Amino acid sequence: MDVDIFETRGVTIRNYYLSIGDTDAYREISRQTIIDSFGFYSDLLGDYQRREYSMAQYIDGMEYSGFAVVDGRTLMDGGPDDGNKLMRNTAHEVGHSWFYDAVGNNEYNEGWIDEGIISYLAAKELVLKDIEAYKTEKEHGSDWTSKDQANAVKESDGMIEENQLKALDHCYLNASWYEYPENSDPGDKEYIYAPIFLGHAKEIMGEEAFNSFLREVYQTYAMKIVHSEEILKILRKYDNSSKMNDLIAFYFDGR
Ligand SMILES: [Zn+2]
Repeated sequence: MDVDIFETRGVTIRNYYLSIGDTDAYREISRQTIIDSFGFYSDLLGDYQRREYSMAQYIDGMEYSGFAVVDGRTLMDGGPDDGNKLMRNTAHEVGHSWFYDAVGNNEYNEGWIDEGIISYLAAKELVLKDIEAYKTEKEHGSDWTSKDQANAVKESDGMIEENQLKALDHCYLNASWYEYPENSDPGDKEYIYAPIFLGHAKEIMGEEAFNSFLREVYQTYAMKIVHSEEILKILRKYDNSSKMNDLIAFYFDGR
């Protein structure tokens, strides 16, 4: 394996990659995405809690403390959005350094917290911005843009709300995998429904309050464990309207 070592935001990054496929594209797109992601999450939430971070090319994405693997197969099949897939996966796994590594949660009962917040921030905030990584992708032949990304997200959210959420009589994000309704994949609540919930919360409360809410959750619970009720308590501090409480009642079991 080769390694690309660089620094961003005072953090030493080691990015390990294999000598297969388009290694230049892999190294450069993932490097720029790591830099963009560290900037985005640090500015929005607060500082990364460690001095070092490592990433390695693998066959799937998975987060660990101070380390992540990303799906590095995407630059080997030569599709036009290969660089974009790598970028999205990298943006997601880097985000877990803030939620999962720094702010901990019960993965079995409340997996919506780290997966939902990071799926929301990576897929519906970070990669919808005109970040530098798009330029790097373009240099390596990708024609994907942040605008294409935004349209894809809008279309997919609309279809999910129309088809899936309507079919469920509730969609409790704080139900454990064991309790989740049989007609639904519990993974969906973490990666799909929780980001939709957060998107609606942002619409209701406005961008400034939403960002302050997320920042407060991070600042209060970094290096601690957070639970759903504590997150909702901070959310209601910023917006306790009936609209927000209706949204919470649809997505959370109030036991
Ligand atoms: Zn994840």
